[in-house]
Amino acid sequence: MAANSAQFPQANDKYVASFGDKGSLALPPARQLIVVTCMDARLDPAAHLGLKEGDAHVIRNAGGAVADALRSIVISQRLLGTREIAIFKHTGCGMLTFTTQQLRDKVVAEQPGDAEVASQVSQIHFHEFPELEGAVKSDVAWLKANPLVLKETTISGWIYEVETGKIRQVV
Ligand SMILES: [Zn+2]
Repeated sequence: MAANSAQFPQANDKYVASFGDKGSLALPPARQLIVVTCMDARLDPAAHLGLKEGDAHVIRNAGGAVADALRSIVISQRLLGTREIAIFKHTGCGMLTFTTQQLRDKVVAEQPGDAEVASQVSQIHFHEFPELEGAVKSDVAWLKANPLVLKETTISGWIYEVETGKIRQVV
């Protein structure tokens, strides 16, 4: 079976045909904005937030975990001038469905007897959460308390609803 990526060139031809003048966009985000959100395939942050190419850094990972995004946040703020961070989590997130210990156990069980696998996975915290609003609030608080995040940063926390496409601000 052909890999999904085999379809990329054809799709890209269409994109390039309407690329316009985006080649002249500046490197620093025009809206000085970072959005941290989940990697969930149902989310299209540019579309549901009205972001265009060149507007913002959109940092995505499993759950929109800020601890996981810190490396990118420091680069974005210190080298590329962003001064606002909006954190999104979403309904129906996979991060609500497991615990770090359960996932570690699953990985080890799938590669029994592999000490290197057991050792490495034991060092990963998967940053899952049992409840959405609390997780948004705690990520906002974590960023506000982090000495690497610039003090003047405007930080907000939001929930996106996969059922309706609506967003709502939590903090
Ligand atoms: Zn998610």
